[in-house]
Amino acid sequence: MPISKADAHEEGRTTQVPCDPFPPIYPPTAVEGCPACSELAARRAAARAKGDESALVDANVLMRRHLRLDHRP
Ligand SMILES: [Zn+2]
Repeated sequence: MPISKADAHEEGRTTQVPCDPFPPIYPPTAVEGCPACSELAARRAAARAKGDESALVDANVLMRRHLRLDHRP
């Protein structure tokens, strides 16, 4: 399943890690139709709703790792 780059904002992107489509400074985007992505997106949304920044960062880290492992182009 292709990752839509149109969904990712390009602002704040650096060129330090050209092989990483989701630089750490930008929150990763959930891939539509992927159960793991939607679970992590829900987790992130819940963390954001609670104002739990460390859980938010955790969810982003997990999602980024998942995207890299399972949605690698
Ligand atoms: Zn996924």
